[in-house]
Amino acid sequence: MQLLDGSTVRKRFSLGGHPHVIEMMCPHCLKHATFTIKGWSEQAGQIAATDTPCPSCGIGVLFLNLLDRHDSPGKSTLYAHPDPVGRTVMHGADHLRSLSAPLGRTYDSALKHYNHGDWGTAALTVRHLLEGLATRLLTDTHPGAPLTAQLEMLTKGVDLSAPLHDIADFLAPDGIIGRQFHDATAIDQATAEQLLELAEQLVAYLVVLPGTMIELKSRIATRPVPLRRGITAA
Ligand SMILES: [Zn+2]
Repeated sequence: MQLLDGSTVRKRFSLGGHPHVIEMMCPHCLKHATFTIKGWSEQAGQIAATDTPCPSCGIGVLFLNLLDRHDSPGKSTLYAHPDPVGRTVMHGADHLRSLSAPLGRTYDSALKHYNHGDWGTAALTVRHLLEGLATRLLTDTHPGAPLTAQLEMLTKGVDLSAPLHDIADFLAPDGIIGRQFHDATAIDQATAEQLLELAEQLVAYLVVLPGTMIELKSRIATRPVPLRRGITAA
């Protein structure tokens, strides 16, 4: 169930009435769609529901309008079911954001394009993210950046260049993925998904894992030492 923003409602049946026209991304086909609702069935004046098919894919979306009769009469909260089938933010994305805010935004943007079904734009954004990540991890010379310094410490003995070198091969103009960038409009969902997965695995390995290890190490180091009876008395 997803909470819908008030801005998705384009038209109401009457002033303060139930939504009549809702514009949103269809949770099934991820296309931007205009849902025109024929009518609502209201239950005890507290909740109204309707099942309206997506004009694009024809699959029904359940809308629920929760009415607030007590605190602010006339106000309602609109929900849609199911949740979009799209991908959710990867675990540990915050570590990427603390390594580099622009790279974090690039990742968010790639995910957004992917979830809107813009495969070509999503793939191009992921390429941008991978290039930025490679540049950042290979050429960063600022030892003051906490996460980078930690990363260097933690990845001693791990060959960072190997996974990044593989990506460079993939993305080269004649590489498996690079070839497809000649015509970004021809990039399909499968390619966009593989690229996004590749980027997420790399971020998990190169950025999130070292970050969470540092966090765990600091929790272990700062853990209060339990007092034991009898030891100091000896
Ligand atoms: Zn649809």
